[in-house]
Amino acid sequence: MDQDIKFYSRPSVPVELHKVRVVQKLHLKSVDERLRAIREGGFNTFLLNTKDIFLDMLTDSGTNAMSDNQIASMLQADDAYSGSQSFYRMEEALREVFGKHYVLPVHQGRAAENVISQVFVNEGDVIPMNYHFTTTKAHMEINGGTVLEIYTDEALKIKSTNPFKGNMDIQRLKDVIAEYGVEHVPFIRMEASTNLIGGQPYSMQNMKDVKAIADEHGIMIVLDASLIGENAYFIKKREAAYKDVSIKEILNEMCAMSDIVYFSSRKVSSTRGGGIVTDSEELMLKMRDLIPLYEGFMTYGGMSVREIEAMAVGLRETLDETVIGQSPAFIEYAVNELDDMGIPVVMPAGALGCHIDAKQFLPHVSQLDYSAGALAAALFIVSGCRGMERGTISMDRDADGNDVASDMELLRLAFPRRVFTLSQTNFLLDRLKWLHENREIIGGLKFVEEPAVLRFFMGRLDAVSDWPEKLVAKFKADFGDSL
Ligand SMILES: *Cc1c(COP(=O)(O)O)cnc(C)c1O
Repeated sequence: MDQDIKFYSRPSVPVELHKVRVVQKLHLKSVDERLRAIREGGFNTFLLNTKDIFLDMLTDSGTNAMSDNQIASMLQADDAYSGSQSFYRMEEALREVFGKHYVLPVHQGRAAENVISQVFVNEGDVIPMNYHFTTTKAHMEINGGTVLEIYTDEALKIKSTNPFKGNMDIQRLKDVIAEYGVEHVPFIRMEASTNLIGGQPYSMQNMKDVKAIADEHGIMIVLDASLIGENAYFIKKREAAYKDVSIKEILNEMCAMSDIVYFSSRKVSSTRGGGIVTDSEELMLKMRDLIPLYEGFMTYGGMSVREIEAMAVGLRETLDETVIGQSPAFIEYAVNELDDMGIPVVMPAGALGCHIDAKQFLPHVSQLDYSAGALAAALFIVSGCRGMERGTISMDRDADGNDVASDMELLRLAFPRRVFTLSQTNFLLDRLKWLHENREIIGGLKFVEEPAVLRFFMGRLDAVSDWPEKLVAKFKADFGDSL
């Protein structure tokens, strides 16, 4: 926010700097109905139906609130297969926000990854990055590349005071370039607000250091800008040299150091869609032919013109600190409250959501009994809030069929931008507090139907004992008839 809001009598509380003008009714079902729903969904929150969910914190992808101006812009959309004015308005917005001239539209973030990987990644290549994202890694590997994660020692620590856990380790970057040879490094990928390690940003100084090495070796930088607004916000808040620099200037500077910038509009501008931008005509021409092949004509790229209009408006709104600062303010509030309650949560607060450490929350449940998955199911039973398991269930078995314990065993609670209120956030925190006090009741899960690939999406599990019934009994003893 431009200025922090001070209260006379309360510790820092985030304030919604928007008003609610269109609402959607939510349902909070009884604890018995929630238990039935999670059983029917195979104890997998992906398989829940939203009619049974109170607060849907599964993801921030395609679930953010749109502004009045975004919705209004959809009415002026120009339906045309080619030459649509909607596209040119979006192109202008992208030039302004990212400071790059050429724009290739795609239907969502992973489509940009497909195009970039097909064009630039060859068999035997390695791609250094601060951390991978699921779809990014899959596209690079399909094209014969290997992802190298060059994060710092701080990155995987649950509780840290390091403001930039998304930084790349500069010495290790130099080492891998020396080890594999420049010819096998098609580009270095930087991901803004690294999604899978807790929405953690990198600093501008780190990007400058990466850029210096890239220039020294003539290697391109590709920036995944899906969560760039929040990364820019954290640079302004946490990096002293940028205290008085506008979000727009910070975004422009981040992009100026990148040869190619791509993004998922499902995150950054609250609509569907995505794009690739660059200042290099040569790079643009290498990628351009794949757009009509996979996405659609150059002036829509698989998006509807209405989404394109809303995207242009949403991108410009990212430049407004009071808009882009909302979600980080709520997440920071929730993370600090959880920490005060003694609940283990990834710190410092980042973008996207709160990440609760199931290893510490449920020390009596082994990772191979899927502690983060069990915690996600338990939270749903006691609150109707749906989170996402980001732990061992999200890993697939190794070549010998063994389960692989993940580095981090997290329950992620996403905060879709401007969707939930402070009282809803407090409801979530209250239920987490109760769950933490009753954590010894929670037991593990086991697979009953296990897909071989990406099992976390469609896999079905069951509780290893009657712990869900015991949890419900304790809930009723404490809450009575209350939902
Ligand atoms: C969501 C996301 C993607 C993929 O975008 P989709 O629109 O879901 O295809 C890529 N990178 C990052 C960092 C993301 O958060």
